[in-house]
Amino acid sequence: MNRRHFVATSTAAAAGVVLGRLPLGAQAPAAQAPPITTFNEIRRGVGYFTGQGGTIGYLVNADGAVAVDSQFMNTAELCVAGLKQLAPKGIAMLLNTHHHGDHTGGNMAFKPLVKRIVAHANCAKWQRTVAEQANTLAQQAIADVTYTDSWTESFGNERIEMRHYGPGHTSGDSVVTFQQANVIHLGDLMFNHAHPNIDRAAGARIDNWIVLLERVAKTASADTVFIAGHAMNQTPRMERAGVLAFRDYLTALLEAGRRAVASGQSKEELQKLPALKGFEDYVGPNPRINLPFVLGLSFDEASEKK
Ligand SMILES: [Zn+2]
Repeated sequence: MNRRHFVATSTAAAAGVVLGRLPLGAQAPAAQAPPITTFNEIRRGVGYFTGQGGTIGYLVNADGAVAVDSQFMNTAELCVAGLKQLAPKGIAMLLNTHHHGDHTGGNMAFKPLVKRIVAHANCAKWQRTVAEQANTLAQQAIADVTYTDSWTESFGNERIEMRHYGPGHTSGDSVVTFQQANVIHLGDLMFNHAHPNIDRAAGARIDNWIVLLERVAKTASADTVFIAGHAMNQTPRMERAGVLAFRDYLTALLEAGRRAVASGQSKEELQKLPALKGFEDYVGPNPRINLPFVLGLSFDEASEKK
């Protein structure tokens, strides 16, 4: 069962139960198969969890556990249960890389257990704004510790850093580095061989996204392991070369938009481009996000008045 279907059916079932709308004698919905989830350790207790939505990063050591992002409630609960088993001292903190629902939708599963939820100030702002617009504020757990440039903290034998490099996927993205393990969670600043969402409504910029990936790659060594927020038919575990390849994809995407604007092409004409040369194997993480979608956003950014 795919994620969209799962979310749709489970929401409908939950609404029916809560509102008492299930007709008398209605058959109970068939038991849902639990989503497939995995914990994958990289090193020194740092790893990633896959389920549905953005990749969750985690750290488990003698001081307990820290999680990076929370997917949706159904898999967040499985992640919480697994981390509690791995870390008898419990889950101390949740960090959010950005506000999107497939990264913060499970925050409520962590909220009763963690001492703090940490995120960039714009992540908290957008999570609140979007939830207010959608009338879902009651289902949100929003960061109670925010920062603007960087935030660091020691946790057992690990030092954790969150750093903001300016706008990219949104205007509130954090790069989360586990310094001793030498693992960097890039959130949705990194899609492995997939067209990205570019959330211009929340301040995304392709031009600075290119620059920031290069800056992050420069802080890394050949041994650094990166975690991607999404990976279609690929692993979210990446190396520096993969990060730079995604920078090259974004560069090609923005250049296509700039060329179209400079030559007087319309957005619709640009969106007919069959492929970005050298990146033909990129696919969308969901049906909405495909090549015409990202080309349209590139056109929009390229046609902005300076
Ligand atoms: Zn996102």
